[in-house]
Amino acid sequence: MTNSLRLTPAQSLTQTLLQKKTPEETALFLKPWLDSLGFETQILTFQNVTNVYATKNLSPSTQRPSQKVLGFLGHSDVVPAGEGWSADPFSGALQDGFLLGRGAVDMKGGLACFFAALAENKAVLDNFPLALFISGDEEGTAEGGIPAVLQELEKTSSRPTFDFILIGEPTSRLTLGDYVKMGCRGSLNIRFCLTGTSGHVAALGQKIENVATIMIHFLHELASFAWPPEDEIFGPTNLEITTLDADSHATNVIPAQARGGFNIRFGTKTSAEQILAKIESVAASYPHVSWFF
Ligand SMILES: [Zn+2]
Repeated sequence: MTNSLRLTPAQSLTQTLLQKKTPEETALFLKPWLDSLGFETQILTFQNVTNVYATKNLSPSTQRPSQKVLGFLGHSDVVPAGEGWSADPFSGALQDGFLLGRGAVDMKGGLACFFAALAENKAVLDNFPLALFISGDEEGTAEGGIPAVLQELEKTSSRPTFDFILIGEPTSRLTLGDYVKMGCRGSLNIRFCLTGTSGHVAALGQKIENVATIMIHFLHELASFAWPPEDEIFGPTNLEITTLDADSHATNVIPAQARGGFNIRFGTKTSAEQILAKIESVAASYPHVSWFF
């Protein structure tokens, strides 16, 4: 145990953020913290999602046409903690030189590094037009997150135009800081359902088409499809299965229904419409497939 380690400001701030269990708790901590650096900080809640929007040097009177606006985009929500932790996932515990907690990497560490860097860089803090967006719903549907914040800012004609946006998501590959991504790939989530007929596994004469087996063929066809090549920055289009469920709740029964989900990440050479068209054309040859969304 190395709990006596002296933490840097970024590490200490990461630890504090790890102890906030919800975006609401994080927002209540961040507002006075950012205000103390001179930001105008707002907590904006849409559809029960708490977001933080903070600006500095950005009022029309101080924003000269030649000035570049720097945006920072981050999120304060985390995926479920799950099991198997050696410490409380919301304690920010120090163990063997590591800071432990759900969201330490994705992305409370990223938030803390950016904020701590700002606090230490008075020249940027005092002179650069800055706009910070901290979503409370990046890991979910995001509907009450930054899209809702931007819509709200548009209503009051206060949506900034950015020259740069830094996103503090983890991108390192082998060592910290070895890789900076230029942008974010597109993301498409698909959920589907195949509906067939249940029956006994031993009843050969029934010739039942097992929807669980059909689902495997359907997914294999999609997952092995050669998508158009992408550029080096974004890498190849990639499909990952995220959920499968064809449980008949018995060891000798063919399921009547099989459900699944997958996510496709894609770059600038492919559009969501192209991918959806391909999925639909594959699905057309599997009459058992019906869509969830
Ligand atoms: Zn993230």
